[in-house]
Amino acid sequence: MSLIVQKFGGTSVKDAGRINHVAQIVTDTYKKGNNVVVVVSAQGDTTDDLIAKAAEINSHPSKREMDVLLSAGEQISMSLLAMAIEQLGCPVKSLTGWQAGFETDANHGMARVRTIHKERLENELAKRNIVIVAGFQGLNRYDDITTLGRGGSDTSAVALAAALHADLCQIFTDVDGVYTADPRIVPGARKLAEITYDEMLELASLGAQVLHNRSVEMAKKYNVNMEVVSSLEDKPGTKIKEVTTVEKLLIKGVARDNDVARISVTEVPDEPGYAFRIFSALAAKKINVDIILQSIGRAGTKDISFTVSRDHKEEAVQLLEGMKDTLGCKDVLCEDNISKVSIVGAGIATNPGAAARMFEALADAHVNIQMISTSEIKISVLINREDSDKALRAIHDEFIPG
Ligand code: ASP
Ligand code: MG
Repeated sequence: MSLIVQKFGGTSVKDAGRINHVAQIVTDTYKKGNNVVVVVSAQGDTTDDLIAKAAEINSHPSKREMDVLLSAGEQISMSLLAMAIEQLGCPVKSLTGWQAGFETDANHGMARVRTIHKERLENELAKRNIVIVAGFQGLNRYDDITTLGRGGSDTSAVALAAALHADLCQIFTDVDGVYTADPRIVPGARKLAEITYDEMLELASLGAQVLHNRSVEMAKKYNVNMEVVSSLEDKPGTKIKEVTTVEKLLIKGVARDNDVARISVTEVPDEPGYAFRIFSALAAKKINVDIILQSIGRAGTKDISFTVSRDHKEEAVQLLEGMKDTLGCKDVLCEDNISKVSIVGAGIATNPGAAARMFEALADAHVNIQMISTSEIKISVLINREDSDKALRAIHDEFIPG
């Protein structure tokens, strides 16, 4: 007998019709002889609606009370789904996060799962009950309700799969898997049969919003067999695992991130210590820097450019403007009409030609590259925002055979 964790997101349980459909998927899995633990999100826009309700009453509610409020959304879904499953004649019990044993740290609104006390869950499974668990919630050690951050139900599901040593953790969503690019922009984008945890983490952080980042980190750490599948159609999705074997693709995806601003400090003295001064000042303000580029010195000065997320750009510019005298630089410039376009693939590390192919595709599409950064499994370029659609298509066509 296998143990399968199935997670259904907000769209998959948004109304009675969808809930009945989910009940069908769950009971089919159960009737095949599997034990099933189901994790649900709040229905449709419930979480956003609750946030709006709170704002009508108090513009600065305590995080504790926000968690009490938001955790209610998942409780609605879990009971409704349980009722739908009762209707289909299978034994079922819904449990809140705390009934299911989720202990988290005390960080309201962004809590991390500490441990799962499994006794209750194991008892229910031993009785051959289908167990439905409210996602996104737990209890801290002061017995206060916590939530795991937006999109956190994915993480609840993976945490349960890890704790219970489940054979499979299926994340059902309204897309049918992980794609090589956003199909709305790149017509040739196609669904991947498999992707590694590391590749998925890179793509998720680059804005491919299929999975909560933390859920993938956790799946990697505990080696959870994970799969993204459609809750609408019965067809294979994308498997997320340590190494991929089915498709021999050099890269698994092309992604765009518009949340970047480029800051340049010009004519900094070409002497030791200046990069240190700039970046330690930014770090002290907890401003995260991504790509860094320093020009070679000319006439005793050099330019230093770097990127930050857009919500940090004003703070970074102000900070450096204030340091102009100590830095002895000329200008602090900021540009945010830019995009970061990246290719991601475990094969990049062992394939020296990947960068050249990417740059050639961009050259052929007449796209100018402003900055470049590389890592083991990713190559990113900074380009003009207007060029980013055609850049995505050109790079995708180069690497992913149609
Ligand atoms: N309901 C929560 C949210 O909307 C958690 C989730 O859906 O995963 O963020
Ligand atoms: Mg989600």
